[in-house]
Amino acid sequence: MDKVDCVVVGAGVIGLAIARRLAQAGREVIVLEAAEGIGTITSSRNSEVIHAGIYYRAGSLMAQMCVRGKQALYRYCRDHGIPHRNCGKLIVATTPGETEKLQSIRAHAEANGVNDLQLLTGAAARALEPALNCDAALLSPSTGIIDSHAYMLALRGDAEEAGAAYAFHTPLVRARADGGQIEIEAGGDAPMTLACNLLVNAAGLGAPTVARSIEGMPVALIPYAYLAKGNYFACSARAPFSRLIYPVPEPGGLGVHLTLDMAGQARFGPDVEWVESIDYAVDPARAERFYPAIRRYWPTLPDGALMPSYSGIRPKIVPPAVATQDFLIQGPADHGVAGLINLFGIESPGLTSSLAIADHIGVVAEF
Ligand SMILES: Cc1cc2nc3c(=O)[nH]c(=O)nc-3n(C[C@H](O)[C@H](O)[C@H](O)COP(=O)(O)OP(=O)(O)OC[C@H]3O[C@@H](n4cnc5c(N)ncnc54)[C@H](O)[C@@H]3O)c2cc1C
Repeated sequence: MDKVDCVVVGAGVIGLAIARRLAQAGREVIVLEAAEGIGTITSSRNSEVIHAGIYYRAGSLMAQMCVRGKQALYRYCRDHGIPHRNCGKLIVATTPGETEKLQSIRAHAEANGVNDLQLLTGAAARALEPALNCDAALLSPSTGIIDSHAYMLALRGDAEEAGAAYAFHTPLVRARADGGQIEIEAGGDAPMTLACNLLVNAAGLGAPTVARSIEGMPVALIPYAYLAKGNYFACSARAPFSRLIYPVPEPGGLGVHLTLDMAGQARFGPDVEWVESIDYAVDPARAERFYPAIRRYWPTLPDGALMPSYSGIRPKIVPPAVATQDFLIQGPADHGVAGLINLFGIESPGLTSSLAIADHIGVVAEF
């Protein structure tokens, strides 16, 4: 059986960042990816927002990784010429009740180390974005957008330069922990068996399934995979905004917000639709809920402007009744399997956090 030092399962943005980190630390790395290329699943079905780190529970992995990851990501984009824009975002209050909440959002952000939020009057916000209807707003200057595909290509290139190899069309089928090393069986076009010292399960939506296929991994520690689909609508009219626009969050979600892609095109969403299986089709009827929500902050959104676009599925590890989840990263100290690291529930802000998560894994992997 061939032997390799590290195997990373999954070539989404998380697996790519981890492979780069391990390879640059001098370790031998093979990435096994079930699909035909990098980043074809959740990593290409998101909002491409570099999040500031405002809402996550203080002290959570999400809060820590987002703030650290954001700084690392801006640095990486500058150093590698990755298209990105530090455009900022406005959280807009359209009622007096929402205006009151802005103060507590700012206090929460400060507890996470996000100290740059500015409270604006309605007039000051409209001076920035004249088409906006609002009573008051919070400006988040460190929020931005990124070309996530250019970012993933650069991560792949860095890892390859440091000696990492990729096997596409190569799903991990099963594995077995055996006396300090892990034996892996991969299927696909060129089935193979491999033994490794370190197995990193970065399979995104598939991470719980991969964990269950590893003989020796305690089943009781593997979370159930819940699926929360997020639907997007594109806008046929040119949206008159240069910053991202978010309503004050409502229980259960961030509300219907407006983000921009690198070409300046607006998209609305994602909403939250709990589903039982993976299906990326967007139901046009969901637009009916988007129009009134958007018109609260953009009253002149034209009739008929919204078109079904794409969707992504959040890899949830908590059921709908639980409002928040955190990233769950398990190493040998958590599950007792030498050489195994599992990453579960890497939903938003996973893209923003990717470099910080990779650094964290780099440290955990030094066992
Ligand atoms: C709707 C939505 C909006 C989001 N918006 C943002 C945002 O604006 N900003 C932000 O920071 N984050 C955002 N995120 C979160 C971000 O997209 C994810 O955290 C990130 O893409 C997760 O990357 P990943 O590598 O873990 O998963 P994935 O990209 O899904 O990659 C996992 C890979 O594992 C492979 N795989 C699965 N099973 C196997 C197997 N058995 N063998 C081999 N390979 C396997 C899959 O084919 C896949 O390529 C959003 C997420 C969603 C759903």
